[in-house]
Amino acid sequence: MKIATETAHIGLEWDTRTGAVTVPIYQTATFRHPGLGQSTGYDYSRSGNPTRQALEEGIARLEGGARGFAYASGMAAITNLLFLFQRGDHLVVTEDLYGGTYRLFEKIFPQYGLEFTYVDTTDLEAVKEAIRPTTRALFVESLTNPLLKVADIGALSAICRERGLLCIVDNTFLTPYLLRSFDLGADITIYSGSKYLAGHNDTVCGLVAVKDPVLAEKVYFHQNSAGAILGPQDSWLTIRGMKTLSVRLDRQQENAGKIADWLRNHPLVQKVYYPGFAEHPGHDILKRDGKGFGAMISFEVKEPAMVERLLLRTKLISFAESLGGVETLMTFPVVQTHADIEPEKRLKLGINDLLLRLSVGIEDAQDLIDDLDQAFSSEG
Ligand SMILES: *Cc1c(COP(=O)(O)O)cnc(C)c1O
Repeated sequence: MKIATETAHIGLEWDTRTGAVTVPIYQTATFRHPGLGQSTGYDYSRSGNPTRQALEEGIARLEGGARGFAYASGMAAITNLLFLFQRGDHLVVTEDLYGGTYRLFEKIFPQYGLEFTYVDTTDLEAVKEAIRPTTRALFVESLTNPLLKVADIGALSAICRERGLLCIVDNTFLTPYLLRSFDLGADITIYSGSKYLAGHNDTVCGLVAVKDPVLAEKVYFHQNSAGAILGPQDSWLTIRGMKTLSVRLDRQQENAGKIADWLRNHPLVQKVYYPGFAEHPGHDILKRDGKGFGAMISFEVKEPAMVERLLLRTKLISFAESLGGVETLMTFPVVQTHADIEPEKRLKLGINDLLLRLSVGIEDAQDLIDDLDQAFSSEG
């Protein structure tokens, strides 16, 4: 079945007792045992909860993996994946990484003996050169933030297979609706479900899918041992959000295409990053492997003073962090999402004080364009 059908049906056949069309919220910590040495399959909600399980099976099916896992946040999911590695292990990582992931990798895991090298993962030679005898995995963002670089997951997975590395893909910006990384050879996908999957800026959650059943057992052991699981209410909200993933993204992508075109022709904009443009370096990869170009746009204005004007004078577009929800949000990466990256490093990546990032929502495209237009042309 196609993703649009799979998402709409998450949890649908769960409740065989009453036939409830949505999965119930099993707000319980523990489960009664029918007899000595017997279990209903559920013992304690950290180890397994039916509402969470419906979500976990949902993400596994969308990805085509053996198992899925739901965590309290995207960062909790990434932390859990790092338990697969040991002191002395090395990972090769996308350089323009999500700021929170960079902070986790730089400020916390080196204490436990993990090493990270950051490279431009759109450069296959740079990835190969960064691999050491102790390298165990590649951690790659399929579409990066905020510069929207596109990784060739098929080619990267082939390098990983050849060198015996795990290929872990943070596919938050694309979702399985737009790119299925297991089909391209990856081993693990991770999501901040807080973004497009839940999709309404109302839940923080993390999701992981694992292709191989043996590796999935290990990840389950870590999930249950460390315990950063997603609660039943938030699992339910995430399922409810995911049901409309395809229609939301169709609309968001359509809007993003129109806004990107409009920005490109605006005299006060000097650069637009949007993979839907034919001249974007990642355009052909997404055209070949994916089902769209996403709904994120980054752009540089001509002078720093324009930044504040746009952030504060847009009326429909909110100045807020996060992305992927139905409402259009704009953020200033230098100060918000990428504040934890050293200034020189940020500049080298192209994240400067002229750069704004738009997460395009499902509103009417013309209303959004009119809003940007009035903010651009306001005085002072
Ligand atoms: C938001 C985000 C994360 C972290 O997820 P949280 O749910 O905020 O903990 C990780 N990776 C990417 C690409 C993100 O956008």
